[in-house]
Amino acid sequence: MNGRLVTRRDFLKHAGATAALLGLSESFIPQLARALQELASGKPPVIWIQGQCCSGCSVSLLNSNYPMVAELVLDKLSIRFHPTIMAAAGDKAISAIEETARDLKGKYVLVVEGPVPEAEGGEYCTFGIEKTTKDLLGKSVPKDKPMTLWMEELVPKAAAVIAVGNCASFGGIPKANAEVTGTKPISEVVKKIDANKPVINVGGCPPHPDWVVGTVLEGLTWLSGGKKPDLDEHLRSKTFFGKLIHENCERRAAFDAGLFLEDWNDQNPDMKLCLFKMGCKGPVTYADCPIRRWNSGVNWCVGANAPCHGCAEPAFYKDLSPLYEPLPNVNFAGLTTSTDVLGWVAAGATAAGVGVHYLLKQLGKKPEEKSEGGE
Ligand code: SF4
Ligand code: SF4
Repeated sequence: MNGRLVTRRDFLKHAGATAALLGLSESFIPQLARALQELASGKPPVIWIQGQCCSGCSVSLLNSNYPMVAELVLDKLSIRFHPTIMAAAGDKAISAIEETARDLKGKYVLVVEGPVPEAEGGEYCTFGIEKTTKDLLGKSVPKDKPMTLWMEELVPKAAAVIAVGNCASFGGIPKANAEVTGTKPISEVVKKIDANKPVINVGGCPPHPDWVVGTVLEGLTWLSGGKKPDLDEHLRSKTFFGKLIHENCERRAAFDAGLFLEDWNDQNPDMKLCLFKMGCKGPVTYADCPIRRWNSGVNWCVGANAPCHGCAEPAFYKDLSPLYEPLPNVNFAGLTTSTDVLGWVAAGATAAGVGVHYLLKQLGKKPEEKSEGGE
């Protein structure tokens, strides 16, 4: 980026600092340092393509407030194609993809932002020109090249695929209500093309810059012979998506005490009420937002009085909407219960020290039934 030479000592220093900034474990530092050193000599090529997306994931990454991290990653990677940030356009830009796929087969990382619409032969998302189409007279005519075809060409030759953002990872907004485009998450598309190709998902709408940078670093470390990232069942790195928002939320004490905000006009800055009844999806969302926080650690959704919308989850957007309405059901102490009962349970359990066996008896029973059985 700036042409500055980075010494081995710098590498080790930066590796330690990078791991600390991203919240990666200390045991990861030697592997990360090795991977970064290899990056300096090899500059792993990256092809970053976009499907059904708004480019918000790229913008989030570029808003990273850790210049050292951005420098290390962007300076040490060779980003061959990125529609949002590259200067080239038209045929010259497209040829960068074709040349990389041809000359660096098995060596490049394919990053995909946004899912793939498969309906209507993929016509809902195209870039570049597919030159092979013939008209009725056998003459070649230009035809837009669908994302589906790009995936078929680029996935088999990639070393690995990283799906950036909720839409690419799980379908997100393009796969929400009234979906008509045949939207498919990247992992599903890749599985059909090459079931053995490594895929890592980065949830979030948009993803935190650290989630993207950290996942790319974990992936590259793995590809250069290091430890395989610890992924959850949704192929997300547990480094960033290993804990429930609800477990680390600063308003958890309010939840446990049954102190819920029920009207936005009741906001009292001195009393941080739990936002569950205002639609908070923190109890079902795995991400480290309460600890990592956004904008260089300044704040996060709940800290800014906004409920967590669950943007890191596969269920977002369709199954976690409407955003400002409470979850219809939530699993509490092994019970699935409604919001109203949950409020009663939380308040009752804390105030009276009521045991779970008692709550089990109360849930799903009418008041008159509660006294039956002698409880
Ligand atoms: S429901 Fe939301 S606001 Fe309430 S404690 Fe859980 S994460 Fe925090
Ligand atoms: S708090 Fe929830 S909605 Fe906000 S960024 Fe984190 S996962 Fe997404």
